[in-house]
Amino acid sequence: LLSEFARTMITDFPIVAILEHLVKRIVDVLPITSAGVTLLSAGSAPHYVAASDESALRFERVQTDLAHGPCLSSFMTGEAVAIPDLRDDDRFPLFAPLAVEAGLVAVFTFPLRHGSGCLGALDLYRQTPGPLDPREMTTAQTLADVAAAYLLNAQSREDARVAARQLYHTTLHDPLTGLPNRLLLAERLEQAERRARRSRACTAVLFVDIDEFKLVNDTHGHHAGDALLIAVAHRLSSVVRSSDTLARFSGDEFVFLCEDLRTVADAEVVARRIGRALTEPFIVAGNDFLVSASVGIAVAGPDDEVSDQLIVNADLAMYQIKRKGGAGHQLIDLHEAQQSSADVQLRAELRMAFANDELEVAYQPIVRLIDREPVGAEALLRWTHPTRGQIPAITMIRMAEQTGLIADIGLWVLERACLARADWMTHRARASLEIAVNVSVRQLLDTSFPAQVQQVLGRTRMDPTALVLEVTESILIENYGRCASVLDSLKLLGVRLALDDFGTGYSSLSYLDRLPIDILKIDRGFVSNISATAASRMIAASIRTLAHDLGLTVVAEGVETELQHDAVASLGCEYAQGYFYARPMSTGAISAYFRKDDGAFAGAHHPALQGVATVC
Ligand code: C2E
Ligand code: MG
Ligand code: MG
Repeated sequence: LLSEFARTMITDFPIVAILEHLVKRIVDVLPITSAGVTLLSAGSAPHYVAASDESALRFERVQTDLAHGPCLSSFMTGEAVAIPDLRDDDRFPLFAPLAVEAGLVAVFTFPLRHGSGCLGALDLYRQTPGPLDPREMTTAQTLADVAAAYLLNAQSREDARVAARQLYHTTLHDPLTGLPNRLLLAERLEQAERRARRSRACTAVLFVDIDEFKLVNDTHGHHAGDALLIAVAHRLSSVVRSSDTLARFSGDEFVFLCEDLRTVADAEVVARRIGRALTEPFIVAGNDFLVSASVGIAVAGPDDEVSDQLIVNADLAMYQIKRKGGAGHQLIDLHEAQQSSADVQLRAELRMAFANDELEVAYQPIVRLIDREPVGAEALLRWTHPTRGQIPAITMIRMAEQTGLIADIGLWVLERACLARADWMTHRARASLEIAVNVSVRQLLDTSFPAQVQQVLGRTRMDPTALVLEVTESILIENYGRCASVLDSLKLLGVRLALDDFGTGYSSLSYLDRLPIDILKIDRGFVSNISATAASRMIAASIRTLAHDLGLTVVAEGVETELQHDAVASLGCEYAQGYFYARPMSTGAISAYFRKDDGAFAGAHHPALQGVATVC
């Protein structure tokens, strides 16, 4: 029997198996009817009970229920108890009558000792009276001791297993919500990949981001934010089937991994369930919160690969729905996603190009309509990408706005433009030239912008009245409240302000008298129609009348043909700009252009010039 125990050391025997083995085999080696064992610890219910048969099990239970009996005594004293005949023994008055009635006559109990403590007791039962001889008593105690040693061993193995399980749980779960974390999600995704190959079903990832969650943290504090996340996690859990995984991805982002879907529509059903689960307001820390989420969906069909790209795509889809205002779901639009990943690269390249001084400024002349004389130029940003060629200015500006680079680029363009204008003016005999520089609304939202402009004006010794800052109409109107004071400060510097692309914002006329602007630039879209339809002509005429009534100067943009030139001239616009007069050109070319114009004035009688070389 000892050697059988020894073998359990090397196999991974669980505690119950050791106990059951002990009680069954001890009946074979000692003169007893049955055996039982109970593991106890002070102050708590018995951990484990094992018995060689039903009657022994009953005797074990009776003693622990009564908290009295030879078994308990051995456990408490650490000594063996021998009762050769229960009928003549008065030590256990509660246990003995019950045991005798059930046919028990002799009981021998042995403590399961370890060090100074005790794990429980081994109990031997017999239906006939008489003692165990000393050798048998020693054998029983030895087996009890050995069993105790193995139990301790198994116990520490079990403890290690529990600790490992706990560790596994904490490394794979989010401590706040208890949901699986990214690591476990990645593991589940790998399993899903293997399963999908066999099942040929659809696998979907739904990327959930709580709308405006930052506001909760900002206005109610992180405690409320955390409590809300726990509540949200709880509701989201109600949406998942047991085979799905819901993970907390980060902050206010949750990810669902759903397997075994039949079609893409099934994924959308889950998305709608998510929306519904969040409809009821959340009551957290005494406040009501109305929560909505943006859910991005990516689905791998039977022939698609299941990989972490699904998460990337679902995340992109989440941003796509966010851009549309959030509070809904959207299936990944791969075309748009490709575009935005290309954008990420281009944004990084733009930053590098700016740092490496690879950007340039082109200048497009602005002419006076009555005599087509150039009066100045507009500065336009240029970037020739090494592989993609010319990047449209609008694209660059949008990216610079997204990355915050616009502030630096904008000031750089301003400085370059002021220096270029200083160069044109050095040898100029004719009237002063003005320079127009475009300003992004992001720059106008920065209250330090006027001071920065003032510094550039100082550094470049620029005459502020020769500088026109152009702001796009629609964007200015939308943000007017927030940049009004910056516009006023700019006016105080002496610079002039132009409303660019006028006519694209539609709702703008009523605002005109409130804005501190001097110049209205009629958008190319209007100009291109002017010679074509009577209606466009009438609209353009009324814009011109309104502008003049308000004391504004009008510049027509994008004049490409003689007809358009005639139309805007007869309308009474003062200035124009467009390919018909000159295209945007490099610093060197515009400098030559103005010098030639000046020369024409100084010597010959030619009117203004066309077709100056380098076009940008
Ligand atoms: P914008 O300020 O309205 O500039 C005029 C745009 O119309 C320029 O495009 C110019 O090349 C183009 N253009 C001029 N004449 C004609 C014409 O006859 N026909 C046609 N089809 N187009 C003409 P570009 O350079 O691509 O700039 C586009 C926009 O990008 C600008 O519109 C401006 O809003 C913005 N932008 C350019 N440079 C800067 C800059 O340095 N800072 C800021 N914030 N925005 C800039
Ligand atoms: Mg402009
Ligand atoms: Mg414009």
